[in-house]
Order: sequence, then structure tokens, then C-alpha cells
Amino acid sequence: MSETEPPLALSIVVPVYNEEGNVEPLHGELTRVARALGRPYELVFVNDGSRDGTLARLSALRARDEHLRIVDLDGNFGEAAALSAGFAHARGALVVTLDGDGQNDPADIPRLLARLGPELDVVSGRRRERQEAFLSRVLPSRIANWLIARATGVPVHDTGCGLKVYRRAVVTGARLPRGMNRFLPAVLGVRPGRVAEEWVSDRRRGSGRSHYGLSRTFAVLRDLPALPILVRLARRRPAFGRALGGAPVAQVAVLLALILGSLGWPAGRVPALAALLAAAVGWAIAHDVGRWVRAQERGVFRVRRTF
Ligand code: UDP
Ligand code: MG
Repeated sequence: MSETEPPLALSIVVPVYNEEGNVEPLHGELTRVARALGRPYELVFVNDGSRDGTLARLSALRARDEHLRIVDLDGNFGEAAALSAGFAHARGALVVTLDGDGQNDPADIPRLLARLGPELDVVSGRRRERQEAFLSRVLPSRIANWLIARATGVPVHDTGCGLKVYRRAVVTGARLPRGMNRFLPAVLGVRPGRVAEEWVSDRRRGSGRSHYGLSRTFAVLRDLPALPILVRLARRRPAFGRALGGAPVAQVAVLLALILGSLGWPAGRVPALAALLAAAVGWAIAHDVGRWVRAQERGVFRVRRTF
């Protein structure tokens, strides 16, 4: 940004992977909402290696909208990386994120922004009346959210809601490893008292289908044990994180414990089970802290071009 340009008040970041049917209507809705707000804004669409016509549609929109910026990634790096890329390119004082499939309603954005008073860093959307199957999506998400809130200490009821508003400082430099978008805003190291929630509506996907299945529930379970460490320690003490996550020693020890445990050592079934569980938890922690540290060192995305 040159010195003569007015500072941007708002960046709206949208990660998109194969959303060719959704980017145009969403761009239209976002533009109407952003114009009505009357503050200088930008729309940052991050194309996460789409293989359909998403990029072509975005480029066509870009030709007639100077508020639109496209960050085109050099492959499919995942939603967490796409968000990280959006954070890296956002120039607004406040950063809004939302899904690119139309499930979040841009009409909710002004209310989230209004809620973000000086006492807060983040306002996180909480979806009312979910438009998805109860048993396969809503129930697992409720259980996951309860566990995530306990593990992170950040009392958010719907971390999976893509619609959130952040103060720019909170997201600057964020490098989220794959899947860690499910633990926003806690994994950014925000203080629990500086996060509020606001009810938002949940709509049906515009077109196309979800990129995730039930397997994400298992990924969340795997990531849970490391969360207290990631949230409170690894961000502030990288050396600690390196020691824990980078050490093959830790993983070998865990593997050994796993083998011994499965052979029934120490004697008896209960200690063996306990040893197995401890080993699994130890592995999960080492694995995730390792991923976190590598993400901070190497970054999580490569940009092909921005325009
Ligand atoms: N997404 C992405 N990269 C991926 C997978 C998803 O950028 O590898 C985007 C996707 O286009 C959408 C958002 O992340 O804008 C949420 O994805 P999806 O709607 O599939 O998730 P769900 O709503 O089922 O949680
Ligand atoms: Mg969706």
C-alpha cells in the first residue's frame, strides 16, 4: 500500500477450493454488505489449488472489481494453509473470514463487527439451526467443540464456524498446520477473555459438496492432547516446541512403549492398557507439536501469484 492510499478498515478473507458455482454469488453478497458498511475494504479470495473453474471465475470478477484481490496458491495446501495465506496478505485493520461455499451469510458480518469492542480481539460466529445432518455432522461437532473448549481453555461453542472477525494483530504471521483451522481462534494464542461469540445463520452449501467426511472427527481426537501445549507453550517458547516435536527420540520412546504395552508389559491388563493409552497420547502430542514447529519454520503455503 502506498502512503497516499487510505488505510484499509476491513479485509474479508475467503479460502476457496473447487467452488466454481459459489464464488460469483458470494462476491455479489459480500460487495453489497461491504459497500453498505461504508469503510474502505478489500475482498481477499485465496484459491487453494482449485481444479475446476474457480480461478477463471475469480479472474473475471477481478477485471471489474478493484476491491477484489486473488491469492492463487501453488497447489492444494488445505483450508488452514489457505486461511494463513489470506492472513498474510490481508491489509485491513480488521480481518473477517468466511467459507467460500455460501454456508455463512455475509449479512451477519456487520453484527460481528459491531460486537468487536475495544475489550475484544475476536468475535466468533455460532451457527443457529444447522442445515446439516444431525448424527453425522451436528452431533460430532457438538462433542468436538466441548472437548476443544476444555483442551484450549477458550470457551467457544462452534470453532468450526468459518465466519469470524479478528483484530489484525491476532492473525498476523499465523502459520496453521493442516486441520488446525478447527481450533481457531484458540491456536492463535488469544486470551480467553478477549473472545466473544455472536449467533449467525447457517445456510445450505450453494453448489458442490463438502470437502470433509467423518474422518475429520478422528483428526480432531488425535489433535486434542497437543492443544493445551500448542495454545499455551509452543507459540511463545519455540525452543520447547522444537525439543518436544522435533526429537525422533521422543517418537522412538513412544513406539517402544507402544510395543511393550501391546505385549502386556508392565504385567497385567490394566497397566498394559494404560501404557498403550499413554503411548498413543505421547505420540499424538509429539506428532502435532512437530507439525506445528515445522509450520512455523517452513511456512504452510506457496503462492503462485497474486493479482
Ligand atoms: N477449502 C479450502 N481448501 C481445502 C478444503 C476446503 O480452501 O482443501 C475451503 C472450501 O472451499 C470452503 C471452506 O474451506 O470455502 C470450508 O470447506 P467445506 O465447505 O468443504 O467444509 P465444511 O463446510 O463441510 O466444514
Ligand atoms: Mg461448507
